[in-house]
Amino acid sequence: MTDELKTAQQWLSSFEQALGGDDDAAVTDLFGPECYWRDLVTLTWNLHTAESVDEITAMLDGTAKGLRPRNIRATEAADADGVIEAWFEFDNDAFNGKGLVRLRDGKAWTLLTTSQELVDFPENRGTRRPLGAEHGNPNQDKNWLDHQKERQARLGYEDQPYVVIVGGGQGGIGLGARLKQLGVPTLIIDKHPRPGDQWRNRYHSLCLHDPVWYDHLPYLPFPANWPVFTPKDKIGDWLESYTKIMELDYWSNTECVSADYDESTQKWTVKVMRDGSPVTLEPSQLVLATGMSGVPNMPTVPGMETFKGEIQHSSQHPGGDAYAGKKAVVVGSNNSAHDICADLWRAGADVTMLQRSSTHIVRSQSLMTEVLGPLYSEEALANGIDHDKADLIFASIPYKVLPGVQKQAFDVIRENDKEFYDGLEKAGFMLDFGDDDSGLFLKYLRRGSGYYIDIGASDLVAKGEIKLVAPANVDHIDETGVVLDDGRHLDADLIVFATGYGSMNGWAAKLISQEVADKVGKCWGLGSDTTKDPGPWRGELRNMWKPTKQDNLWFHGGNLHQSRHYSRYLSIQLKARMEGLDTPVYAIPETVHLS
Ligand SMILES: Cc1cc2nc3c(=O)[nH]c(=O)nc-3n(C[C@H](O)[C@H](O)[C@H](O)COP(=O)(O)OP(=O)(O)OC[C@H]3O[C@@H](n4cnc5c(N)ncnc54)[C@H](O)[C@@H]3O)c2cc1C
Repeated sequence: MTDELKTAQQWLSSFEQALGGDDDAAVTDLFGPECYWRDLVTLTWNLHTAESVDEITAMLDGTAKGLRPRNIRATEAADADGVIEAWFEFDNDAFNGKGLVRLRDGKAWTLLTTSQELVDFPENRGTRRPLGAEHGNPNQDKNWLDHQKERQARLGYEDQPYVVIVGGGQGGIGLGARLKQLGVPTLIIDKHPRPGDQWRNRYHSLCLHDPVWYDHLPYLPFPANWPVFTPKDKIGDWLESYTKIMELDYWSNTECVSADYDESTQKWTVKVMRDGSPVTLEPSQLVLATGMSGVPNMPTVPGMETFKGEIQHSSQHPGGDAYAGKKAVVVGSNNSAHDICADLWRAGADVTMLQRSSTHIVRSQSLMTEVLGPLYSEEALANGIDHDKADLIFASIPYKVLPGVQKQAFDVIRENDKEFYDGLEKAGFMLDFGDDDSGLFLKYLRRGSGYYIDIGASDLVAKGEIKLVAPANVDHIDETGVVLDDGRHLDADLIVFATGYGSMNGWAAKLISQEVADKVGKCWGLGSDTTKDPGPWRGELRNMWKPTKQDNLWFHGGNLHQSRHYSRYLSIQLKARMEGLDTPVYAIPETVHLS
């Protein structure tokens, strides 16, 4: 046994003993002066990070003793620059869990505890997998397909699903797969004609921005020869095939029109239009997986109605091909603006980007090498870190600590890619690395915007192929184009507002009511008091994958990594409720921001 493992075992054994005793000071004595305990559902039935000895004391005080980790087994430990990182498994009254603790000078600095499965309701996998066949049953006249067809014909009509997921993009599909494995009757509905259309309908040249190691769906990883950056139609087909292989109950061409919650029956009435016909669903739980980006932000600009050309929000842009030889003005300078400008340029349009405020840019290659590489890459795999392990390592870094860690990586990128950034600044592009220089991922977590992962458009900006006006403020629009506040007139046949999206609770306003949207408040963001992420500090993303102020309403979404990882915790929370387990939730924060 290594020294690190011995040290880890000693700490974990003292921890377990203290947790089992009556004096919580004995627990907190094991933590250092700077300390964090991030709990993903095992102790709190919530996603919660306690960020000091006092907060840990409060968390222990406010949660059931039976949910404290016990039977803790250290599985692996290593020294990383003087910090011992130790993996462990544990259980409690409700869960089998996994954890990761970092010890500095013998005391805990960061601790992660995660629920992996419910003790009484584990997934039927491995030795518990279903038999499938019914050997020796002479009365068997129905096969798998017959049963499946019958179930699908009844679901939503004679049989009500326990969960309805509105939105069958990558998020809804991944969550649906987990719920299926847990035996939770679930119906996924989506407006599109086919699963995967969310990707197919995007612009012609699009490939995923994130590399394959980061993108696996639950249960069914991509094969080892899958391309690093999946082309959009290929990911569309993968999602569609996945839906079939995982036997998900998925209604395409189905739009959710409204949803109402009845406090007395604790059920939702969800009105949908399926292939043009109304159907009423009555699930107990409603998950909005309608896209983390929320409802499009379309500004109202004086004179818009007089414009003779076409005006679109970026979400409505069909791709550049229809605009060859036309003049296009794209308002905005984040991801969508760059992608749309590049595609319009490729199609032969004359494109101008209007940059209103500074933008963070990182080259895709640099992101892969410096930021994602240690956890999600072939190198990581060779070091024994698959995506499940990587997800836990990533989750084990508390959001408070993350900016410092990320800043180091982005400082390196800034230095290595100096020439690239100089070229952009020379072209007049206004750059930033986030309010505290912590780079892309923090911008994504805090505000979900303000950046571009460069896959080629920046070079076009630097070379002047995509024309740039920066800073640029639109004053009004006239019949022939855009007028800036400095009086400049930009002729245009097409104006695209790449002006982002609102918070996900905008979907709740649209589908349920403004009252419910205001009750749950803003989704996403950490409360970091940085641009577009107003305080107070939350320590976790607002409202995502965890109980909200509205009973039985949940929000799910994010990139493929987040959807994969956090769908585990959301599915477990839903299963527990279906089974009628006691689920006392610790610390749902008060709503402060409404959007
Ligand atoms: C150019 C570009 C590149 C990107 N690259 C990546 C990448 O590499 N990796 C990554 O993870 N993400 C990437 N993203 C972001 C990606 O689009 C989102 O992460 C992803 O779409 C989120 O998935 P989702 O399932 O939460 O939402 P969506 O994919 O937006 O799905 C939401 C679904 O909800 C449905 N819906 C909405 N309202 C209703 C209703 N009332 N009734 C029925 N259905 C409804 C919609 O039809 C839609 O299908 C990229 C985005 C862009 C624009």
